[in-house]
Amino acid sequence: MSKSYDVIIVGGGMVGGALACGLGKAGINTLVLDAVSPVMDWPPKDYELRVSAITAKSQHFLEAIGAWSGISKRRLSPFREMHVWDAQGKGEIHFDSAEVGAPTLGNIIENLAIQQSLIDQFEQYDCVEYRHPLRIKALHLETDHAELETSEGETLSARLLAGADGARSWLRSQFDIETIGWSYHQKGLVCVVSTEQGHHETAWQRFLPTGPLAFLPLADGRCSIVWSTTEEEANRLLGLNETDFLNELNEALHESPMGKVIGCGKRAAFPLRLQHSTRYIDHRLALVGDAAHTIHPLAGQGVNLGFADAEELTTLLSTAKLDGIKDLGNKVLLRQYERARKGENLGMMGVMDGFKRLFSNDQAALSGLRNFGLGLTNKAGPVKNLIMRKAMGLDRASV
Ligand SMILES: Cc1cc2nc3c(=O)[nH]c(=O)nc-3n(C[C@H](O)[C@H](O)[C@H](O)COP(=O)(O)OP(=O)(O)OC[C@H]3O[C@@H](n4cnc5c(N)ncnc54)[C@H](O)[C@@H]3O)c2cc1C
Repeated sequence: MSKSYDVIIVGGGMVGGALACGLGKAGINTLVLDAVSPVMDWPPKDYELRVSAITAKSQHFLEAIGAWSGISKRRLSPFREMHVWDAQGKGEIHFDSAEVGAPTLGNIIENLAIQQSLIDQFEQYDCVEYRHPLRIKALHLETDHAELETSEGETLSARLLAGADGARSWLRSQFDIETIGWSYHQKGLVCVVSTEQGHHETAWQRFLPTGPLAFLPLADGRCSIVWSTTEEEANRLLGLNETDFLNELNEALHESPMGKVIGCGKRAAFPLRLQHSTRYIDHRLALVGDAAHTIHPLAGQGVNLGFADAEELTTLLSTAKLDGIKDLGNKVLLRQYERARKGENLGMMGVMDGFKRLFSNDQAALSGLRNFGLGLTNKAGPVKNLIMRKAMGLDRASV
């Protein structure tokens, strides 16, 4: 058995799903496949542990491809302000969406709500087929197409393969594309917590020498935390009973207008690394999302960069289709895609890695410098606005 498509997307997570909707809207014959079947029950018993801060730019893209209404019907939590402060000194910076004339700085959304809304949207497009669980056994490359052999012996062919299969991408490894990067030897511990005074629709982040501790506001008044710390420390914190965990969390948060943390749900931790593919493209291949790049979660940019990849590829392929180009996997298009995304992603990764290093350092000179810098930036309106617009994905200028 064999079947042909214009594009096969390997990986139906948030980024692969968004790309499928974008291509579906453009009438491009697309197969999206995933090794794992998605969870489609909604609502879950409680907030999902995995949430993402979604920028205004990503929201516009998700609206354009029809997935936003499904997300807002499920659950989203807008945040209007962000407060960042340094545990070693008095440096702090406060961002308020009103300062850039925007209603919010972004929304905290459960990853599952995004993925399910994208999958629902596939139904709207006759040209999108979604298959799961489906395992790919082998890849064969021909001049004018690529073939995937499934574990059931079926052959699926396409002009273009999009690798959206995450940080440990199987497809990337089949093309021998190397990655550069390093482990931060940290884990991000996530958990939903309640506080005495609520979150004031503000995202709070305290930089500790071991890593940032973020409180992301949820619509029911609780917060989803991401506590980035050393691997040993994260494992130890996972093993504590609730009372001891809350004591340590309160010590790490120190003082804030949220008051004390008074309750927490189940905990999980994810390894953190910086990873960048040396190439985003190859013969009949484009990598998107975490398959191309992973980044420290401290500024909540990872999946937003992935959505920007999906948007760029959608725009290029739909324009090519309108221009009557039949081969949507041709080299010219792929080079345009890589040129548009690689520099942009590298720039953001560099800035975030710099922040991570600057703040995870307890040398007195560096601590003084960053406290001075935070204070200065907080008072310098135009610089602060530029940072805010960049973080919201509304400005391509580098910070
Ligand atoms: C603690 C933490 C907090 C974060 N917070 C934020 C945030 O606030 N904002 C933000 O923008 N980002 C955040 N991120 C990053 C964000 O979670 C990732 O960037 C995002 O999940 C990547 O999505 P993706 O679709 O590219 O890959 P994935 O989510 O990894 O999806 C890959 C998909 O491919 C499938 N797959 C894998 N292998 C195969 C195969 N061989 N064949 C077929 N299918 C396959 C998988 O089943 C999965 O469905 C955070 C990350 C962490 C760890």
